[in-house]
Amino acid sequence: MSTQPLMGGAQRRIAIPVRVEPKVFFANERTFLSWLNFSILLGGLAVGLMNFGDKVGRISGGIFTFVALSAMMYALITFHWRARKIRNREAGPYDDRFGPTVLCMFMLAAVVVNFYHTPFKTEFAVSMSCDSCVQDVSKVLQGLPEVQRFDIDLDQQRVVVEGTAPPSRLSRLLKDTGRTVIVRGQGVVNGTHAGAAVCIFDMYSHPAGTPKPKREPKGLARLVQIDNQTCLIDITVEGLSPGKHGIAIHECGDISNGCESTGGHYNPTEVDHGDMEKGHVGDLGNVEVDKDGWGDLVLESNRIKVWDIIGRSMVVAAGAEDGGKSSAPESKINGNSGPGILAGIVARRLVLLKTQKPSVLARAKPCGRKLELLEAVVNCNIVPVHCILHD
Ligand SMILES: [Zn+2]
Repeated sequence: MSTQPLMGGAQRRIAIPVRVEPKVFFANERTFLSWLNFSILLGGLAVGLMNFGDKVGRISGGIFTFVALSAMMYALITFHWRARKIRNREAGPYDDRFGPTVLCMFMLAAVVVNFYHTPFKTEFAVSMSCDSCVQDVSKVLQGLPEVQRFDIDLDQQRVVVEGTAPPSRLSRLLKDTGRTVIVRGQGVVNGTHAGAAVCIFDMYSHPAGTPKPKREPKGLARLVQIDNQTCLIDITVEGLSPGKHGIAIHECGDISNGCESTGGHYNPTEVDHGDMEKGHVGDLGNVEVDKDGWGDLVLESNRIKVWDIIGRSMVVAAGAEDGGKSSAPESKINGNSGPGILAGIVARRLVLLKTQKPSVLARAKPCGRKLELLEAVVNCNIVPVHCILHD
């Protein structure tokens, strides 16, 4: 549409009536429709987030809903404003700078909120003997931007870390300083976690044809659902033969006949055995057992939900699992990890981050530390499994 008045000769303005072509009306209508189109898409996203997201997702969904409704209203007002101007043959400007700018700002806000992670707290038992140990540990933690704060207690050999850094990474980095590291508790920093569970491996089946272990193998797994996405898992085993042992969540919680009666790997998506991302939901990989028979594994999963696996079981296998990648016939079923040797039922856990009595760790002797730490974990950090099962 021509909105420029033509300049006549010597300082004289000649106003020519603004010509309005039919396509101008359609352009206005088209703009309106494309705003509506966008609002509907955004609204769909908002509904998805509100229905299937966690708390943060719902907040984000709320903002998206607000943006979608505002965009619709705004588009309607702008449409009428432009239509009126066109009908009245008014000269411009017709362009709209305000709307898209505000829209972008709100969209950005909603997206940023969605990427906000729930901070959580992990308590580690770390073997530290002097101030230089404390310095080593704090140096590691200071280097992590996801760590919001940490607290190191030399006397109690305790390190508490708050932030969004995955506990598995923290545990690895702390172990890299050459120390014994055990996860003693996990939970959210403020508010409540979405659920917690514990699995005490209390059934040991001795595989035929292998030497009997000197002491009865045992183990413990703890699971905390930090938010709808993340489940933190830490597993400790003791007394097993050195090397890798496949570990998985099994379908049933029946250990009446040992590992035999627990069914196959927990596999609601009906896929082949594999890794934590693509395999059975219950696939947890391998726990590596050292020459003293001690092994631990710290994991995060966004596929395991605590409430889905309570009442099922966890099984540690005699051999290493191969991630479903070998040509062995059992590879696609259980990673060719052999028979199960340790099994336990996953039970709901009632208490979290219950403070351990300092005397327990103080009594730990250097030679027997690992064993005593496991016992400390079993004794102090959880509700006895039988109480949980009967509540
Ligand atoms: Zn599997």
